[in-house]
Amino acid sequence: MNCHDFNADLIPVGEAIAEELIEQIKGMDLCGHCASCLYTYIMLAPQFSNEELVQLFRADLLENTKLIPEFNELAGLVSNPYPNRPRIARVNKALRVISLQKDKEHKALIKHYINECIKQYEGDMIEEYFNMSP
Ligand SMILES: [Zn+2]
Repeated sequence: MNCHDFNADLIPVGEAIAEELIEQIKGMDLCGHCASCLYTYIMLAPQFSNEELVQLFRADLLENTKLIPEFNELAGLVSNPYPNRPRIARVNKALRVISLQKDKEHKALIKHYINECIKQYEGDMIEEYFNMSP
C-alpha cells in the first residue's frame, strides 16, 4: 500500500494507536512529500518522537515549507467551499498537542501554524473592537 491509498482518518487522536495500524503504516510506501503523508505525519506526531517520524517518512515533513499550501488546507487556514470539517478538527487537535512538544514546537510548519492562529485571533479581536457600540 502507498500513502495515497491509506486513510489517515483511521488514526485516533488522543488515544493509543493500535499495534496493527502502526505495523501497517511501517510497511507502507510513503513518498514523504504529499498531502496524504503530511496528514498521516500530523496524526502520528502527538505519539511519535521526531526521530521515529523521520525514520518512517524518510523526511521531516514539519520542516518542509513547500507543504504549506497542503498544510493550510488540512488545518482549515484557507477558505474552502467544501471543507472537511471533521478532518480539520482532528488536525487542529493534533497540532495543539504538537505545538507543546519540546522536540517539535520549533518546526517550521508548527511556527507557521502558531503565527496563523495569532493572526486569526488578532483579526477577531479587531473585528470585535469595531463592532462594539461607543
Ligand atoms: Zn505521500
